[in-house]
Formats: sequence, C-alpha cells, structure tokens
Amino acid sequence: MIFFMVIERKAAVFAAVFLFAENQLWFVVRILANNILDYSQVLYYNYILVKNIKRGSKMQTIPSFTVDHLKLKSGLFVSRKDILGSVVITTFDLRLKRPYHDPVMDTASVHALEHICATYLRNDALWGERVLYFGPMGCRTGFYLIMIGDFSSEDILPLVERTFDYASDFEGDIPGATPKECGYCVDMDLELAKTDAAMYYNILIAPKKENLFYPVKRTRKPKAKPDTGTVDDNQEE
Ligand SMILES: [Zn+2]
Repeated sequence: MIFFMVIERKAAVFAAVFLFAENQLWFVVRILANNILDYSQVLYYNYILVKNIKRGSKMQTIPSFTVDHLKLKSGLFVSRKDILGSVVITTFDLRLKRPYHDPVMDTASVHALEHICATYLRNDALWGERVLYFGPMGCRTGFYLIMIGDFSSEDILPLVERTFDYASDFEGDIPGATPKECGYCVDMDLELAKTDAAMYYNILIAPKKENLFYPVKRTRKPKAKPDTGTVDDNQEE
C-alpha cells in the first residue's frame, strides 16, 4: 500500500513537473513564434521601404547644393529627402523669388509670412500633423517646408496653394506677433507679405514644369565611334 502511495505521489509530482514544464515550453514557443513573426514583419517592412527609396531616389533625391541658382525659377521644389530610422523626411524649397532676377523679399514681409503660413500649415486638417518645420531662407528668396513622409511637389501643391491664398487675403492680427511670443515682432509688414503671397499664389495655380522641378544639368555624352553605326548628334542641351 505504502509502495503504491509512493508511486502515486511520485507520479503526481512527475505529472505536476511535466505540466509545469509543458506550460513553460508552450509559453517559450509562443513567445519565440511571436518574436519571429514580429521580426520578420520588421524585416519585410524595411525591405519594402529600402526598395521604394531606391526606386524613387534616382528621380527624387536632389541635394539642393547642386542646384544652379542662376537657372532656378520661382516655384515649389523638392529640395532633399532624408531617412530617419524608418521615416522619410521631405524638404521643400518654396521659392517665391527668382534668384538674381526678382528683388528679394523685405525682412518684414518674410517675418509676417513666416508667422501666417506656419500657423496655417500646422492647422491644416489634412497635412498639419505632417508639418515638421516651416521657415525662411537666409537669402530671402523663399521658405523651407519640411514634411514627414515621402512626397513630390505635386503632392503638396494644393496645400501650398491654400496657404498662400490664405496669406494673400489675410486680415487682422498676425498670429504670434506680440513681444511675449516673438523675438522681434515689430519687424512685420502685412501689406508687403500679402503682395508677395499673391505673386507666389499666381505661380502656383498655373505651374509649369520649371516651377515644380529643379533645373537639370545636362551634359553631352561622348560621341559614339563611327564604326558602331549609332548616331548621337540629337542630344538635348
Ligand atoms: Zn517672429
């Protein structure tokens, strides 16, 4: 009897240990399976992201320092794209004034437009959440708009149109134009700002290719050897 009891107890202990181990095992297996799923999802996501960026980068990633400002027109351009972790950041060049052709903006106009446009952009129902930064260029020919996401000029054209439409008709107190909220609020001229905004709006509502894409530098390729039979004289300059 005692023998059977011992056996029974041993069996019970064994069963308990087995159940515990089995539970732990399933627990470990489940955790591993979830991790593998999660990790493969992350890998897949990064693979797609890199593929898309590679595909787009040939056409879209344009470092602004390579742009010939003598050939640049006013317009809305993709200045550059940066990748932060798994996020693409697009910097737009909002060029209100054609460099070395139009007079640059007055600082009072730049400052007023900065306040009005930044407020409008950040409050836009569709795009506001994606606006990372809006601010003037030091040369006073335009502004930079930095957006979270991979976008083209055409993608945000309606947003920028709306913004400068709003600025060109702006009436009342300029947002944030008090000594408490701004570093030099006396340097603002609403009438100049409205004129500059209207001028830019008129370009945006009927943009040509030259107003949406940076000028591309084309270089003539070396002439093909005569015996290859290919003609290479119709290159666009
Ligand atoms: Zn200010």
